[in-house]
Amino acid sequence: MKLLMHTCCAPCSVYCIDSLRKEGIEPTLYWFNPNIHPYIEYKTRRDTLIEYSKMINAKLIINENYGLKDFCKNVVDDLENRCVNYCYKVRLEETIKYAKENGFDTFTTTLLVSPYQKHDEIKLLCENLAKKYEIEFLYRDFRVGFREGQAKARDLGLYMQKYCGCIFSEASSNYDHIISEQKVRPLENKITERKIRLGWDVPNLELRPYKNGNTEQIKFIYDLKKKVYQKYVENIYGEWNDEIQKKLFDKFMKENSKNIELIYLKDELVRILQWKRNR
Ligand code: SF4
Repeated sequence: MKLLMHTCCAPCSVYCIDSLRKEGIEPTLYWFNPNIHPYIEYKTRRDTLIEYSKMINAKLIINENYGLKDFCKNVVDDLENRCVNYCYKVRLEETIKYAKENGFDTFTTTLLVSPYQKHDEIKLLCENLAKKYEIEFLYRDFRVGFREGQAKARDLGLYMQKYCGCIFSEASSNYDHIISEQKVRPLENKITERKIRLGWDVPNLELRPYKNGNTEQIKFIYDLKKKVYQKYVENIYGEWNDEIQKKLFDKFMKENSKNIELIYLKDELVRILQWKRNR
């Protein structure tokens, strides 16, 4: 068997190569991944694979194509289905074409190792492409060794990427994560406050006293108090009234500003601490 294995990255290749070699099959690795953005990420993953293939004495063919523009043009109208409709297809089809033109009789892909990819869709696509191009598809459910392969890659010090590849997956992994972090932050802030009250250490935390005239702090405290007093003001006065709120706020600050400290986490103002007695 002369096997060409589409290889998405070094860490994913670890288990695939190890298990194939155990079966007595020596794969030739084929790099064609125009789905990896930005370029510095593309280069880092490619160079890591070059380094790893030398380390394990595996044959590697590089099809150089940083295909950002083509990729975006082809997925932009249906981002939801971009993996199946374009990304898998373009990489696997190119691999098969190379295999056919260069005397390989079988192909497979390291995409079959990841539990995060659409495994069944990849398998089906490979089967269909195998029929179309009249080439054997070597199917293995490499997912059983995903954790083992990743652990070995980490031990070897290989570069481990943080997202699938395209700029859209980068956004899901980083930007969406920040947004969801912001949503859970109110709860985290309460936990932080509790820890401080119990006298526990909180990393990256700084307590700063209220500084008379500091507009950022005043606005923060005002917005906080506005939420607290809203129901009270509506109950007493029948409607929300900015003037009454202002009076309540001034009264509060007059009586309490000496007892207020502000919690900054990584320089971001997150909460106030109002101590019960003068300190
Ligand atoms: S998420 Fe991954 S598989 Fe899907 S389009 Fe992006 S790079 Fe391709």
